[in-house]
Amino acid sequence: VPLSNRASLVGPHEFYLLKILLNNSDSYELIPKDIIEEEIDLNPSQLDFYLSKLLKLKLIYHEKNLGKDSFKITFSGIDVLSIKKLYEMKILKSLSTVIGEGKESVVYMGYDFDENPIVVKFHRIGKTSYKTLRRKKRTLQGRKSWVRLSIENAESEYNALACLWENRAYVPRPLGLGVNAVAMEYINGKPLFKTDLLEPSRVLDDILSTIRISYVYCKLSHNDLSPYNVVMDTERNIPYVIDWPQASRASEDSLEKDIRHILDFFRNKYDINREINDTLSYIRD
Ligand code: ADP
Ligand code: MN
Repeated sequence: VPLSNRASLVGPHEFYLLKILLNNSDSYELIPKDIIEEEIDLNPSQLDFYLSKLLKLKLIYHEKNLGKDSFKITFSGIDVLSIKKLYEMKILKSLSTVIGEGKESVVYMGYDFDENPIVVKFHRIGKTSYKTLRRKKRTLQGRKSWVRLSIENAESEYNALACLWENRAYVPRPLGLGVNAVAMEYINGKPLFKTDLLEPSRVLDDILSTIRISYVYCKLSHNDLSPYNVVMDTERNIPYVIDWPQASRASEDSLEKDIRHILDFFRNKYDINREINDTLSYIRD
């Protein structure tokens, strides 16, 4: 069942149940049924009815833990909470098709209440490899749950876009934050690596000006700047830098890595030779 349809099948009780499971996911690996019973005003047979409905929609998952019926919210469950939230904020009216799928996110096209296309990016940390996730959890993040990590990535991307947009960088305009989802302006165009530019030097300048704004005004480094994360708006002919969840406090190392990456691309494809040090001093200035 597509995500948008599942969201529309969720009524107020199921919605409340999902919220209970989300709010307890930091304290429990699996949430025992008695904890849920304490937090919701439903009799046992009603509770079972709504839990089984959520199970059928695969928005929660069930496991016996130490002999107790226990539950956990799934990625789709958090996605549905995000969809409801963005709907209530009057940002997202309906979801359409998947337009991108990466290691840690799924990107959907959707429509706002005026039927304009928008983009909704759902963060799903650890959806591909549990092993990578475990390594990440151990080395970087302590013992945070994948739920928490996904929420933090969405927040971090939203905050980065908000600062960048306010400072007039070329990024999609952020429209709102769901639980693990960022709604943003849809850029009608193609990724930079698939485009043959007529004015590559000017486009490179535009990208560098976005990086300068991120560094100087937002104190952020992108950390994954590449021709895959730049969308060329075909009508306005402007490069938009996307994919900011990894943005972190600006550091010289990460800035230099990002800049080298993009200068290499323009050197190899367009024979544009910019000095790394000149470029770095322009950015820092
Ligand atoms: P990830 O690399 O983690 O999958 P991205 O933010 O790079 O996430 O998005 C994946 C793909 O979705 C992009 O390569 C692009 O094609 C598309 N996309 C993402 N955001 C937008 C946007 N605001 N407008 C148009 N297309 C987008
Ligand atoms: Mn990307």
